[in-house]
Amino acid sequence: MASFNLDDYIRKVPDFPKKGILFYDITSVLASPEAFKFCIDKMVEIYEGKQIDAVAAIEARGFLFAAPYAAIMRIPLIPIRKKGKLPGVTLSKKYDLEYAQAEIEVHSADVPRGKRVLLTDDLIATGGTLNAARSLLLEGGAVVPEIFGIVGLPFLNYRQILDPTPVTTLITYDSE
Ligand code: AMP
Repeated sequence: MASFNLDDYIRKVPDFPKKGILFYDITSVLASPEAFKFCIDKMVEIYEGKQIDAVAAIEARGFLFAAPYAAIMRIPLIPIRKKGKLPGVTLSKKYDLEYAQAEIEVHSADVPRGKRVLLTDDLIATGGTLNAARSLLLEGGAVVPEIFGIVGLPFLNYRQILDPTPVTTLITYDSE
């Protein structure tokens, strides 16, 4: 386990979805039961002993890692989705992308007031999406003590925007 190299299982796809972007693809992690289990085991290990009452994840790749974690830890999973996908009463938040705006939503009834929610995604780039997701959870009255991603791209300065919430990733890369 100690010698496991997660980097071997992350496919790097140049110029996807557009020229100049190096896309870090985690479908190759999912295709390897060892690599997938390594990630989930690490999540369990990292937050063991910290009080985590629920886990929130961002559509769609964030769900893939948060869902098994929630089932193992026997805690609720809070899906954060793109606008228009959730049928119930929602809280919503608009945020800026490089050239456009996006909007994410959460069922307000799913946000546990006063509870500690671990916020997760597959990859953290600028941190813009997680920042908006954190605002939603805080607006709903939850506490967000920690943020987790499988992959981090710290050169895009996500720590700055996500400050003061501690951010943990299993692997980081220094270029895109
Ligand atoms: P951001 O809001 O900039 O942190 O990025 C939001 C989402 O875009 C994350 O959920 C990632 O899944 C995806 N993403 C951004 N950059 C990359 C990349 N270089 N490779 C793979 N996914 C990316």
